[in-house]
Amino acid sequence: MDIAPVLPSTADKKAKYNVDKLSKRLRHAVGDAIDDFGMIEQGDRVMVCLSGGKDSYTMLDILLNLQKSAPIDFELIAVNLDQKQPGFPEHVLPEYLTQLGVPFRIVEEDTYSIVKRVVPEGKTTCGLCSRLRRGILYRVADELGATKIALGHHRDDILETLFLNMFHGGRLKAMPPKLVSDDGRHMVIRPLAYCREKDIERYSEMREFPIIPCNLCGSQANLQREMVGQMLKEWDRRFPGRLETMFRSLQNVVPSHLADPKRFDFKGLKTQDTPFEDGDTAFDEPELPQASDHPLARVSILDNRDRCHD
Ligand code: SF4
Repeated sequence: MDIAPVLPSTADKKAKYNVDKLSKRLRHAVGDAIDDFGMIEQGDRVMVCLSGGKDSYTMLDILLNLQKSAPIDFELIAVNLDQKQPGFPEHVLPEYLTQLGVPFRIVEEDTYSIVKRVVPEGKTTCGLCSRLRRGILYRVADELGATKIALGHHRDDILETLFLNMFHGGRLKAMPPKLVSDDGRHMVIRPLAYCREKDIERYSEMREFPIIPCNLCGSQANLQREMVGQMLKEWDRRFPGRLETMFRSLQNVVPSHLADPKRFDFKGLKTQDTPFEDGDTAFDEPELPQASDHPLARVSILDNRDRCHD
């Protein structure tokens, strides 16, 4: 008896189409960030830090994808730091990475016990924990001869950091897509800098990455970061496009229109016979969408009213 081949259902085809579309969008965003910031060069050995969360799985997946089609040769090595948190499922990452066929290293360091011993009960443990982790990762990068260290922070992390620094640090400072480590010896890159968290979340669900929970250490979530994250999510829901515009502002900084005399020589500012770029627009209102043109006109007006009460 002939058995009829099983054809993919419409739902399967649609699911595949959605994964492909999202994957393409993320690949473009990562490719653009790599290009704009010169993140990866010919011959680089990139250490991809993998925590077992959605962001780092997505980063590794997209980088592996780009590696196949990139016009340059570079290596990827996945590194996971097993911090010996209770209940950490040690087998998950080695199995996943072996199946992918990507070179990897699992580093075992019991930072959990150190943090528990040193930090008084009830105090936040994340500061010390991440300092210890950073030091270990830099050491491992040296051992592996890695020329770049890739971290999985995305666009929304960068915006959250911007607001946290503004609200609590009094500094206009975010999280750069590329930076030199504090010891001056390592180049850290964030290839997901242009990626939206909601895309990463969806991609991670579609690809069914074996997510390892991030609360194994028992630490409380950073409440301030959570609040800023909620604020951004709410803005994104009510005013589509706002986060994109805010991120663009990080790439269009005008020091002469801020108030930091270290970044702009206000004392030395002189008049001249030719027009200054931006100089005669000092009193202009920022460009806002016209209420009547905007699809969210009603909501925008409400938002302005809210602002008047601040
Ligand atoms: S949540 Fe836990 S593992 Fe993560 S940085 Fe904080 S203390 Fe460390």
